Amino acid sequence: MKERGLAVITDSAPEPELQEPYGAILTPVAMAPCTSDVNTVYGTGSKKPDDLILGHECVARVVRVGKKVRDFAPGDLVAVPAITPDWRNPEIQEGNDRHAGRPFSGNALGRSIPGVFAEYFAVEDADTTLAKVPEGVSLQDALMCVDMVTTGFTGAEAAEIRFGDTVVVMGIGPVGLMAVQGAALLGAARILAVGTRPVCVKLAKEFGATEILDYKKGDLAKQVLEKTGGTGADAVIICGGNDEAMHQAIEMVRYGIGRVVNVKHYPGEGDIGIPKFSGGRGMAGKTVKLELCRGGRVRMERILRMVQYGRICPGKMITHQLSGFDRIADGLELMRQKPADLVKVMVTPDWRQV
Ligand code: NAP
Ligand code: ZN
Repeated sequence: MKERGLAVITDSAPEPELQEPYGAILTPVAMAPCTSDVNTVYGTGSKKPDDLILGHECVARVVRVGKKVRDFAPGDLVAVPAITPDWRNPEIQEGNDRHAGRPFSGNALGRSIPGVFAEYFAVEDADTTLAKVPEGVSLQDALMCVDMVTTGFTGAEAAEIRFGDTVVVMGIGPVGLMAVQGAALLGAARILAVGTRPVCVKLAKEFGATEILDYKKGDLAKQVLEKTGGTGADAVIICGGNDEAMHQAIEMVRYGIGRVVNVKHYPGEGDIGIPKFSGGRGMAGKTVKLELCRGGRVRMERILRMVQYGRICPGKMITHQLSGFDRIADGLELMRQKPADLVKVMVTPDWRQV
């Protein structure tokens, strides 16, 4: 057992084992604590092992690979998707990648298997998981792709945005900002972004928001209905808010063809209700989807190409950079406190030159 100062939940851990023949051992080059890590540590989700190593957002260098790994070698710089589906599970063939076999099976790193906040960590299947960081893509941009971009884009894709749509993005933290960006890229005409922190509002406008709504200034559904002449939005992507968020989203989305996609985490017990009236007493023709972000190698390669060819610049969301592995806990605390000037934190470890 080697002392490695492992983040918040444990301060020592066994060396990760190379999972032969498809696995890889990696070492992080840049890491980002996430709101989801805050939920894991302080939230009310399923019980996690006491010695869980946290973390699921990193760009890393490959250290060792299993005998049957085809496309990766020691020294490669890779983006490690936060979601790592088990592509060998037969349910994948039915299109169930993120929950194949059991709920949240694809959401393993730092949740059900040791995460990336360690000097070394393991992935089970390098060829289906990792994506090489293309030449010219910055660490900051690549790091934001592994979870924030793919989650926000998952929201926009699941909302089936069409040219000319009016889209509401509830919450413009890093996830919502990338939902704004995704909706804009998919052809939304009008994007109403909901949030108050100036640093987020500025980026939301830069990434494609046409209007900003302040949830502190009265009923959000009413604000959207007023802005849309009573019709409502074509789609709502929920990336923030409280337990009322789903109720509000259903109220503000169009009858007949409106789509509500949730990627937000709801802490605690209870339920997130559907309003009887604006739910058309069960017949409103409104679609609701509850989505975990998409992962895997091809997904990540596609998103990295969006950076490489100048379509997106998600590294702009990194407002705080901390140096030294022991700063992970500080980074997590920043993500918990959400000071006014923060969107996202990047931590670079000090055990090797990057
Ligand atoms: P964040 O930085 O905390 O952003 C939350 C946003 O919600 C902020 O813009 C905040 O506005 C806004 N907000 C707060 N209260 C609101 C209200 N009552 N009504 C409307 N908006 C409100 O969070 P994040 O890091 O972007 O993460 C967003 C969510 O995604 C979290 O729940 C996280 O756990 C989840 N997540 C899900 C996945 C997935 O796979 N589905 C992956 C990663 C994260 P202010 O400007 O006023 O602060
Ligand atoms: Zn994350």
